[in-house]
Amino acid sequence: MKKPIVALLCLLGCLPLVLSGCREKEVLPVYQVPAEVEPYVQQFLREAQSRGHDIRITNLKVEWADADPAGRCGICHHATSNPSHQKRITLFRNCWDPATAEAREALVFHELGHCILNRLEHKIDRLSNGVYASVMNPSDIAVYERCIYDITGNLECDKRNRRNYYVDELFDENTPEPDWAK
Ligand SMILES: [Zn+2]
Repeated sequence: MKKPIVALLCLLGCLPLVLSGCREKEVLPVYQVPAEVEPYVQQFLREAQSRGHDIRITNLKVEWADADPAGRCGICHHATSNPSHQKRITLFRNCWDPATAEAREALVFHELGHCILNRLEHKIDRLSNGVYASVMNPSDIAVYERCIYDITGNLECDKRNRRNYYVDELFDENTPEPDWAK
């Protein structure tokens, strides 16, 4: 009499395992990046390579949405430290469309920082001159942007010379403070 009960318990107990096993097989990694975004992903790979990181991305899906009620420009879903896990990024049109090439790049780099480099947390640290220390900051994608409205004659309106530091920092959080921030 005991054996059928054991078999039944095992069947019930194993069912979730069998189902989750099936689910994993069904969801193969997908690479699906809109043409508008792809150059920034390729640039990310070049920047990684030039800094000695051998990164391949085969499991990334980037999709558009109109606007985020919470005011974000992008979201990396499923940020996990598992490198083979399907990564999915949503970018918001209301933020992307008016953005400069530098801000678009910084946004894509930020989301890839979460999704691909496993930088799961935002970095709120500031440099000595008060600007964010990282593109992984929570709210500013214009940290190395070109000058758009220079109404004050501010020499720092064009911030493109800061890009190299921010890309260095993206791949190495211990990058020292650059001269322009001192
Ligand atoms: Zn973020």
